[in-house]
Amino acid sequence: MSNGAFFNPEFETLSRSEIDALQLERLQATVRHCYEGSAFYHKRLDGIHVKPSDIRSLEDLRRIPFTTKQDLRDTYPWGIASIPASQCIRLHSSSGTTGNPTVILHSRQDIDQWANAVARCLWMVGCRPEDVFQNMSGYGMFTGGLGFQYGAEKLGMLTVPAAAGNTLRQLKFLTDFGTTVAHAIPSYASRLYEVMEERGIDPRRDLQLRTLVIGAEPHSEDTRRRIEQMLGVKAYNSFGMSEMMGPGVAFECPEQNGLHIWEDYFIVEIVDPVTLEPVPDGEVGELVLTTLNREAMPLLRYRTRDLTRILPGDCPCGRAHKRLDRMKGRSDDMIILKGVNIFPIQIETILMHFDELASDYLITLETLEDNDSMTVQVELKEMFIDDFTKLQALEKEITRQLRDEILITPRVRLVPKGTLPKSEGKAVRVQDLRKQY
Ligand code: AMP
Ligand code: ZN
Repeated sequence: MSNGAFFNPEFETLSRSEIDALQLERLQATVRHCYEGSAFYHKRLDGIHVKPSDIRSLEDLRRIPFTTKQDLRDTYPWGIASIPASQCIRLHSSSGTTGNPTVILHSRQDIDQWANAVARCLWMVGCRPEDVFQNMSGYGMFTGGLGFQYGAEKLGMLTVPAAAGNTLRQLKFLTDFGTTVAHAIPSYASRLYEVMEERGIDPRRDLQLRTLVIGAEPHSEDTRRRIEQMLGVKAYNSFGMSEMMGPGVAFECPEQNGLHIWEDYFIVEIVDPVTLEPVPDGEVGELVLTTLNREAMPLLRYRTRDLTRILPGDCPCGRAHKRLDRMKGRSDDMIILKGVNIFPIQIETILMHFDELASDYLITLETLEDNDSMTVQVELKEMFIDDFTKLQALEKEITRQLRDEILITPRVRLVPKGTLPKSEGKAVRVQDLRKQY
């Protein structure tokens, strides 16, 4: 078990060749398990005339077709599962905007493995049983709640399952219980600071918080630095998704330079989202994951829709597990305006350079006089700035920098703090009101 820097030294210190060997062994077992247990995969593999015994090398994985979110919807609720639902102890469901939601089943072993992965991540960034861990994310179907809960308990911290929202109560807990580690989505971390400011709470002076885990939604490096500075913490990026279990899939180490993806749990591929051919390390493409230790609902070559790249080179922390760059966004989030492809994160990166701006912004796409246009509303830090000339100059400078980045000239509107709609869950950054022709 845990020692020094590692929670699972036997897996975290594996060399590249040891990881490859373990992956092959687990891949073969997973494909066999899917073939024998899942009617869906049995048919898929028969369809391409591949038997589990045909998987002799890691390259053979590429013979297997991709699994998509649509496959999960088509087999709703659990037609892809490799064991009967009656042998499972939990399900998580994520609601899609269209069609059926997707459901992921978990056996007891899956829940244990998931808790282990989250504990491993938290341990990696210095969490220890003496810490007090406050989870400010939604519980219920959202995996950020129970996922971190079980992981933090497994590590042995005193856990405060505060759940999302109710900021004054969060602050009371942070103060009264001496919370040292917290988990929140990045948009909520910014909100928390705003309320602290209003209440005259200085996190460095009044709180013991030193580690923050932020994840579940895309955010820029500048947003992270800003959160760290505001709250006086180190903030670590946590990546996960319900289909792969939830949080615990990939996590930053103390180097804060890429997220180690646990390769004893997953095989990672990055593919060109159009040709679906692999791209070389260092190039951005769609993340495709194969689970290696799931019992209830293993997924083979699952297309995540998330866009990222593998960071080349070794990590000074000594873990050979590959590092993913912070997510660029999801292919479904990409805005196509006047034929130009834009990711909201590009806009956020520019906005967060400006000290005058708060963290909330909203991108609206609309059709004005038959022309598609983009408006970027962003909140000002001060409740009200009445120097009109200064505001105009600021708007102009933001517009110029955005145009240089996204090659389109948006209309920039600076709005007072607290004006833009807030959500308790993941922040909504884009609204598309364009006319569909
Ligand atoms: P869900 O399954 O509802 O928890 O959503 C999972 C999705 O949230 C992922 O596929 C990503 O698009 C997004 N996501 C999760 N963690 C991060 C992160 N650290 N950075 C960017 N996006 C993330
Ligand atoms: Zn590292």
